[in-house]
Amino acid sequence: MSNPKIKVENLSKVFSTDEVDTYALADVSLSILEGDYVSISGPSGCGKSTLLSILGLLDTPSAGQYWLDGIDVSQIGLSQSAEIRCEKIGFVFQQFNLIDELSVADNIALPLRYSRKKHSREETAARVADCLGKVGMQNRSGHKPNQLSGGQQQRIAIARALVAQPAVLLVDEPTGNLDSKNGDAIMDLLGQLNAGGTTICMVTHDPRYANFAHKQINLLDGKIQPGDPHHGAGRQGEAA
Ligand code: ADP
Ligand code: MG
Repeated sequence: MSNPKIKVENLSKVFSTDEVDTYALADVSLSILEGDYVSISGPSGCGKSTLLSILGLLDTPSAGQYWLDGIDVSQIGLSQSAEIRCEKIGFVFQQFNLIDELSVADNIALPLRYSRKKHSREETAARVADCLGKVGMQNRSGHKPNQLSGGQQQRIAIARALVAQPAVLLVDEPTGNLDSKNGDAIMDLLGQLNAGGTTICMVTHDPRYANFAHKQINLLDGKIQPGDPHHGAGRQGEAA
């Protein structure tokens, strides 16, 4: 069997201030395999975003091991991780985080510009067109983000996250800024992408949306809870 796309062991994260230490994550271990669709859910403040940010190389753990697509990234600082992040991680934020001054096509192309691999103008255009097609937004490449609805902006953010053909798509509360109709449409899109082979790890506080995933991880106070066998959830410590 192929290596896990993501494997973490005994991951912990402490936020320390003068006054107090907050243990946001405690001894989290999990694996995400190629083709998986994993949800991470739990109440507000349980550590979901902290975990996804560490998996996305946007933050570093206080302790623990992390292998991303077979590479040990546990000891890599944030300043050195940018290129690996661009190549291996597609990150989708609740707030979309598109750049208003750039066209849709230029927003989608951004990860290719920061990747170590160089991409010709033709290849970049072809990849952008392909990703626009995957999210059903073929006719919007010249638009600016503020000319689009929230649901359309999230589609563009997903296209940007796919353009570098990452090992895994990490998605933090993708429907949090959308009404239920647009939220459901984004969930349908994520399901289609996974059916097409994209490996997805999605954070959601909404149990209804967690059910879209095939493997469910529940966090409480920074710890993985034993899975619910009725929902195909994993053994503790393993998203399988
Ligand atoms: P969730 O996404 O599940 O709502 P978070 O991962 O954002 O939870 O937060 C987990 C815990 O860590 C919370 O207690 C939160 O207040 C704390 N926390 C998150 N980020 C920071 C930070 N940068 N500094 C201090 N505490 C933080
Ligand atoms: Mg959060």
